[in-house]
Amino acid sequence: MNNNKLNGKIDNGYRFESLKEEIADYLNVKDNIKTGIADYDRIKFQKRKIINYLNASEHDWNDYEWQLKNRFVDPHDIAKIICLDNEEISKISIVANKYRFAVSPYYLSLISPDEAGCPVKRQSIPSFEEMDDSGELDPMDEKGSSVEGLITRRYPDRLIIKVTNICGMFCRFCQRRRLIGEFDTSCSVEKLKRALDYIRSAPEIRDVLITGGDAFLLPDFQIEWLLTELRKIKHVEIVRFGTRTPVTLPQRITKDLAAMLKKFHPIYVNTHFNVPREITPESKKACEMLADAGIPLGNQMVLLNGVNNNADIVRKLNQSLLTLRVKPYYIFHPKTVKGTRHFWVGIQEGMDIMESLRGRTSGFAIPTYIVNGPKGLGKTPLLPNYLLYIGKEKAVFRNWQGKKFEIPNS
Ligand SMILES: *Cc1c(COP(=O)(O)O)cnc(C)c1O
Repeated sequence: MNNNKLNGKIDNGYRFESLKEEIADYLNVKDNIKTGIADYDRIKFQKRKIINYLNASEHDWNDYEWQLKNRFVDPHDIAKIICLDNEEISKISIVANKYRFAVSPYYLSLISPDEAGCPVKRQSIPSFEEMDDSGELDPMDEKGSSVEGLITRRYPDRLIIKVTNICGMFCRFCQRRRLIGEFDTSCSVEKLKRALDYIRSAPEIRDVLITGGDAFLLPDFQIEWLLTELRKIKHVEIVRFGTRTPVTLPQRITKDLAAMLKKFHPIYVNTHFNVPREITPESKKACEMLADAGIPLGNQMVLLNGVNNNADIVRKLNQSLLTLRVKPYYIFHPKTVKGTRHFWVGIQEGMDIMESLRGRTSGFAIPTYIVNGPKGLGKTPLLPNYLLYIGKEKAVFRNWQGKKFEIPNS
């Protein structure tokens, strides 16, 4: 180690050549990690297959209600679209008896039909590994921190309302699988009114997060009613939606929806892309319609074994999201939900991914890595350690490349 680096001077050895070396490995792999846009010919082929199988039209395909009504729920039907052998079909049926499954025709079209480890398949098609009963049904104790049924409140100034259990696709790693049940149900107006009463009576609540299930699976008129009511409450400053529809059901983002939301600004939307392959022309259009309506978009990725626990995949995903005007907001460490054991990863894997991003890509492409404390202890951020020493006189750091520097600490 050259003394300069420890003398309070920044070692400014950034020769362009060394920067090129830093990015060479990524440049070698980035084109092999295909977005759904780069892989659209294959997706279009699958889409044709599904449209023919369902005897449908292009018009049907673009209608989100058709997509919802025609979600695939039987492995025998799915086997007509992607490769599944008989053993796999019977195993899917066994798992489906325990945990409901449903995949929109659109999301099904993203599965690479004969790739066993396809990350889209892994997220959407039941796997026998779900029979492993490690974990808990409600590790976050949402039940324990819920008030007025639909509300979960865990922080001083904000809360979530779960307005429906409907989703375009039931993610196999879902943290709320306990609520998915047998049937699609939206909450009653009565329950919503009680949730609104609670918010009205709590002047410290300035941020209301509407989620589910999938918040955008309420019909437009109900969302509009809810927003109208929330906007009457003076202390509610911002309203956020949690929705995976841009990823699993992009047809849901219509001109009408965007125009309606726009009337209630400031509105924020957080969506949930997990892999670059989910970025298709359709999902891009959905995000752009929301962004054009002035809605800031964030992404909440879940770190999942066998799906995206890889630094290059996360980097490609986050950089691609920025081109859609979606800002990576959180990476969630997988929760210990029962039936999701095969998705769990070690903390170090997430830390290594965070380490690989800082300095090597835009700060905008770097989300916060979060571990959710069990029993409602809340979101807890994790960051590789850049502070090597902190004393009365000085603090010593390392930079993203591991070069040391120090600054006075007073
Ligand atoms: C995640 C969550 C929020 C929102 O947290 P932010 O860090 O503000 O995005 C609010 N309430 C509950 C109960 C949550 O789980």
